[in-house]
Amino acid sequence: MTETVEIKIDHRLVKQYYEGYQHIPKSLSPVLEDLKTEGVYLDLMTPEGVFIARGYHGHQNKGYGWVFTRDASVYLTTDWLRQLFSDAIGKRQKLFRDEGTTAFRLFNGEGDGLGGISIDLYNDCALVQWYSLGIYEHRANILDALEAAYPVKAIYQKKRFREGGKYIEADDFVRGERVEFPIMVKENGVWFNVDLNDGPMTGIFLDQREVRERIREQYSQGKTMLNAFSYTGAFSVYAALGGADKTTSVDLAKRSLPMTIAQFSANGIDFEAQDIRVMDVFNYFDYALKHALTYDLVVLDPPSFARSKKRVFSVQKDYVALLEQALQLTKSGGVIVASTNYSGFDMKKFKQFIKRAFHNQQATYKILETYSQPEDFPYDETFKESHYLKVVFIQKLS
Ligand code: SAH
Repeated sequence: MTETVEIKIDHRLVKQYYEGYQHIPKSLSPVLEDLKTEGVYLDLMTPEGVFIARGYHGHQNKGYGWVFTRDASVYLTTDWLRQLFSDAIGKRQKLFRDEGTTAFRLFNGEGDGLGGISIDLYNDCALVQWYSLGIYEHRANILDALEAAYPVKAIYQKKRFREGGKYIEADDFVRGERVEFPIMVKENGVWFNVDLNDGPMTGIFLDQREVRERIREQYSQGKTMLNAFSYTGAFSVYAALGGADKTTSVDLAKRSLPMTIAQFSANGIDFEAQDIRVMDVFNYFDYALKHALTYDLVVLDPPSFARSKKRVFSVQKDYVALLEQALQLTKSGGVIVASTNYSGFDMKKFKQFIKRAFHNQQATYKILETYSQPEDFPYDETFKESHYLKVVFIQKLS
């Protein structure tokens, strides 16, 4: 039986929890500081001792837990969780019916009513990601509930929290029938090789589905493309399928080369007609500038933080400079797709970065369209960090 700890909260904070706020910050109560056990239930109470809402204790970035109900009779039981997952599945019927898309998010943390966990579907395999030890403590009920809500062939997992300083498991298999990877999934009719048991990433970032489709249908025909921080080349594959003259994919990781070749090949694209470079994006920018290479379409999708041999890149500090460099390689009339999944700033701030970069380079621009998370990645309106994805299509005018 999981223990319950009562937390009396300040009068001024009561209203937001009555209204559905889910995030439990460290600052909510000094009691949280002293709590040693993750996974315990946290009953938020008014100063008079009236029950407001129930959450669980789990450490995650700045958070110390998540509220999941305002009903005092509700706990994280298999029955309650099965209903929660069934509701999430119900909201995704369009995706289930879409034969061209077999990989998408089934459950998106606080956006679907329980923070600290996400569940993705790759064909009939589920990938559960645990963002704190606290939610992981409830895994038995969660996995039972998932199996009851949806017939999965196998469940794999990623632990996105530190356990004794260790991040990555040697084996991410959890339940069901072991699968031989890579498997092929489809997204908008495009094939992707995916491996759910090979380190922290799977081969595809599912939240960019709409952006990729937009690139294929509107921005690729007859164009030259530079895909910076390309990973397995997902944006390049869509551009090539959309009729791009040539794509150039640049990523530092050695594995990006065979993985990108595999993604092109899975879609019948001759990878030898494309350019795939294993190198630092910033070195590639220097190289391209020296050789006067320019592009019609430049995709920038860097990680929030990255440490390479020479430098530390942080989206927060370095995005403006990144854009400025990309700008110099973009043809007039060309388009930059600037993307970030960093939750520490919002779209407004991101647009300020864009403004500053173009101003610094004395260039003019027009924002053509913007994207955030697709419908299978719902966010929690009351918690703006959950609205993390920002993608802006910018046309360079002069
Ligand atoms: N745009 C990709 C996802 C990018 S993930 C997609 O659509 O799938 C971030 C990638 O940036 C990783 O593959 C990592 O290897 C790469 N990376 C990080 N720092 C880099 C650098 N300085 N130069 C090139 N690639 C870098």
